[in-house]
Amino acid sequence: MDLEMSKNSFSKRQTMSISQLAKSIPASPTLALNDTARILKEKGEAVIHLGGGEPKSKAPLDAILAASAKLNTAEIKYTPTEGIPALRKAVVRYTEENYDHLVSPQNIIISNGAKQSLSVLLLSIIDPQDEVIVLAPYWVSYPEMIKLAYGKPVIVTPEDGRFEPRMADITQAVGSYTKAIIVNSPSNPSGAMYSKTLIAELVTYCEKKDIYLIMDDIYHKLVFDGESWTSPYQFAKVNDEKSKLIIVNGVSKAYAMTGFRIGWTIANPRLIEAMVNIQAQTTSCASGLLQVAAVGALTGVQSGVESLRTTLQNNRDIMIRELRTMEGVRVEKPGGTFYCFPDFSAYEKSAAKLSKLLLDKVRVVTVPGNEFGMDGHLRLSYCGSIKDIKEGVERIKWALDPNAPNEIYIGDRKMMRDWS
Ligand code: PMP
Repeated sequence: MDLEMSKNSFSKRQTMSISQLAKSIPASPTLALNDTARILKEKGEAVIHLGGGEPKSKAPLDAILAASAKLNTAEIKYTPTEGIPALRKAVVRYTEENYDHLVSPQNIIISNGAKQSLSVLLLSIIDPQDEVIVLAPYWVSYPEMIKLAYGKPVIVTPEDGRFEPRMADITQAVGSYTKAIIVNSPSNPSGAMYSKTLIAELVTYCEKKDIYLIMDDIYHKLVFDGESWTSPYQFAKVNDEKSKLIIVNGVSKAYAMTGFRIGWTIANPRLIEAMVNIQAQTTSCASGLLQVAAVGALTGVQSGVESLRTTLQNNRDIMIRELRTMEGVRVEKPGGTFYCFPDFSAYEKSAAKLSKLLLDKVRVVTVPGNEFGMDGHLRLSYCGSIKDIKEGVERIKWALDPNAPNEIYIGDRKMMRDWS
């Protein structure tokens, strides 16, 4: 066999040794963008990252003190798969305070971030071909996580361009294979907070149909304008032993602890048991050190959460004000999170093309809306600095406005507009 032939058959074997499942899952677009931004920054490019998904504030001091004390014992061992008792107890208290609902530790499993909570959860409830309803615009990971569990995502897209789905559209998508509906309010990527009426209808409907209602509440403390976020438990009639209402939450966003990787699920004890079995055979427990840090965050001084919330509200106001100076851009004011999802289709219908142009020409990182199930939009984050928000939108304006001056400085580089 000559060298070329053996190389070919080697690479063919390599391709064939990747599973069908793995081939069906593309690279995470948001993580890929982070990589691109980092590489450009390392090369000294004046990149503005409006694609980020984490607050820039520091982790709470109580989290750090708790973790430092634990680290100093030099005894960091496996913990029970479902999490250390102190953290499960802290989640019981958190749920009582924030959801006005008393759960027991048997209703809780701690995982490596809310992302793992969701993926272990989906693996625990989906049989092959089961359908899960996902509401567009949706968080990029939902459809892929459902596919990883051999399920089928069924996307419900609001026809009128609003970000709150209509109950009639949801019920129309429910069929005999529907296992669950996933709700994320306030939402990544739109920032929209769903109305109390919709939450009430969803809880009642899912109880009646006996399907799971998964509430991804990771942004529930980052809500603006004095609005109150709705706890779904207030509408639930089925008790926690049998309930198909599931809460997923974590410390990543509200406590600025993305790197600590601690999230949790609250569900009926039978489902928690199934999740423990699956997690036990994949990652075992979340890190004992970081669970202790999460206890520190949840039981310590809470003022950091409120200060992050007000900072984000101020950032949102600045970003929305700047975007509204662009003719043709339609943007809804987000009720929470640190994202907004303006419609740029008056300028360019393909969000992927637009996002690439903005990165190539003006070094602004955005996430294209097609990744969230809605083309023509870009997801812009306002979790960075005010300077970046202002300059980022300014650069976008310059790139898209044909009447803007022909030159701009990006860092110390003069850019000429050579596109239309
Ligand atoms: N749900 C949503 C909607 C998110 O945006 C994220 C993070 N981007 C997560 C879950 C996962 O959060 P983590 O794994 O950091 O707890």
